[in-house]
Amino acid sequence: MADLDILLREYGQFEDRLRTAMTGMCAVHCCVCTRVCCREELCRETFESPFLRLLCQKYPPSAEYDSRNGWLTKTGCALSIGRAPVCYHFLCSEIMISRPTPLDGYMLEVLAALVNHVGKKALGRRHLVEILNSNDLTRVKLSRFKRKLVQAQTALDIIVDYFDHGTLDVGNISKLSQIRPFPSDKSVFDMMKSNSI
Ligand code: SF4
Ligand code: SF4
Repeated sequence: MADLDILLREYGQFEDRLRTAMTGMCAVHCCVCTRVCCREELCRETFESPFLRLLCQKYPPSAEYDSRNGWLTKTGCALSIGRAPVCYHFLCSEIMISRPTPLDGYMLEVLAALVNHVGKKALGRRHLVEILNSNDLTRVKLSRFKRKLVQAQTALDIIVDYFDHGTLDVGNISKLSQIRPFPSDKSVFDMMKSNSI
């Protein structure tokens, strides 16, 4: 149980940081969106996944679950922690088109993949969120989880630094490629050259 407590706490702290970073980049679009992509069937994962359910108990939502709208409220998602990975992973065309450069687009895609990365292959090939028997959560290898968490935290630091200061070097690109392959797209390489990366 001690390991499960560590898992929930460290995952929760990471998701909190990631949600803040993503909100900073996406909220300007989501706030005025007329085709909001949230769906009750996605919110429902909270009850289908024991891990998300435990997160929801540890970090209580700001509003009750609604049978039609799930966790979606007038002011956004009621879950601060414990959203399904897909809630971070999906980037609509509106958001992607708004990226000023292909490199910015790549950085945002890596950011969106981080929650998914942290839970990958938590037990055999199963993702943390896909473990359907709550007893199995105690069998998750903490060392493997922590390795993925460190990779995701490193990537998050690199991306935040890039968006804040425009800094990125080749060593950092290889770390980001552990999460999502760096595009061989010529335009990205041209962009890097012009940024002197
Ligand atoms: S991600 Fe895109 S489609 Fe979904 S709410 Fe935000 S702007 Fe709208
Ligand atoms: S972001 Fe929140 S409201 Fe939207 S689908 Fe995910 S859990 Fe539901």
